[in-house]
Amino acid sequence: MSEPTTAARLTLDLTADLKPAQLQDFYRDLHRHPELAFQEHRTAARLAARLRAAGYDVTEGVGRTGVVGVLANGDGPVVWLRGDMDALPVQEATGLEYASTVDGVMHACGHDLHVTWLAGAAEVLAAARDTWSGTLVVVGQPAEESGGGAAAMVAEGVHRRFPRPDVLLGQHVTPGLAGFYPHTPGLTMSASDDIDVVVHGVGGHGSRPESTVDPVVTAAYIVTHLQTVVSREVAARESVVLTVGRFHAGTKHNIIPAEARLALNLRTQDTRVRERVLGAVRRIVAGECRTAGCTVPPEVTVRPGYPNTVNDASLDGEIAAVHRELFGAATVFDFGPAMGSEDFSLLAPEGVPYDYWYVTATPADVWEAAPGDDLAEKFGNVPGNHSPLFAPEPSSVLVPGVRTLVSAALSRLA
Ligand code: ZN
Ligand code: ZN
Repeated sequence: MSEPTTAARLTLDLTADLKPAQLQDFYRDLHRHPELAFQEHRTAARLAARLRAAGYDVTEGVGRTGVVGVLANGDGPVVWLRGDMDALPVQEATGLEYASTVDGVMHACGHDLHVTWLAGAAEVLAAARDTWSGTLVVVGQPAEESGGGAAAMVAEGVHRRFPRPDVLLGQHVTPGLAGFYPHTPGLTMSASDDIDVVVHGVGGHGSRPESTVDPVVTAAYIVTHLQTVVSREVAARESVVLTVGRFHAGTKHNIIPAEARLALNLRTQDTRVRERVLGAVRRIVAGECRTAGCTVPPEVTVRPGYPNTVNDASLDGEIAAVHRELFGAATVFDFGPAMGSEDFSLLAPEGVPYDYWYVTATPADVWEAAPGDDLAEKFGNVPGNHSPLFAPEPSSVLVPGVRTLVSAALSRLA
């Protein structure tokens, strides 16, 4: 019998008695008390307490609010399981009985589910330590949404202070009828960069534009001109998104301001394409400012955010096979690379394979009621991550999300 089969069979045995009710209270408590990036003190303490109770050697405060639990269990590979913990500045509108009690903060990306799955899997694997051998490292990562969490853990020596991973595993909740486990071998998520642009004009009276260089008009041309980058400078087969998310200038009707500020976000899937787009942004900004007669050159600052997330194809294939065995062949499919981004991969040292997959969590009644004839249409019409209405179905996803993690870990350790 092949290894994946062992992992699937073991997982079913080990989680046979696991009921949603056992995880529900923990999940609801996290959902009620969301914490923003690098402020996950309560969440981290809750996770750390569970890991300690399960027998892990736990270190808190790694990368400010991160948690690392280590279970050394004999010879074998070092497997890292990672879950992120932070919430978002979103006002919850789900009306759930266990909705957020924090004004303007919500677990709108489902990281409360991630922490619950992680704790559940850690407990199952600790209780069953006589069935596997190796080292399990459970990582509660802070600040995924702000982009600094994984980098902060690495900067604080997470790879030096704890057993270095042979493999890194993680999963994200996603909209879609609950009960599917999408896997993508290779590129699964895109790189993300933030770009700040400052246009320096010459301010003055709104009635005398001839004595100014109006940065509002120049920045408006820049916004319009940037729309040609993806359509005219990037090959049709490439996927790129360039969004101007903020346009800030001026204080009053009759004052021409001295500067305008733009905030851009870039998503790319190929480093050469990324360089080309960044070059185009710099060229267009400089060109429009020169055309307008700006005497002070503009500033373009690139703030690298997340790299591409590229699953190890053979590792992904093996874990997808285990998930098929667990949940049925039709529940695992590949929906291709997404334009979304993650800092998950930063936790894998150079050359260490990793796998990141999805767990769908839209309640069946919400899915049925969503307008649309096919999957893609319905997918766009149910509340997704970051929506104030995002409401996964805990009773149907809590146990499966533990099983996906446990089986993936056992496929390396059993
Ligand atoms: Zn998110
Ligand atoms: Zn997320």
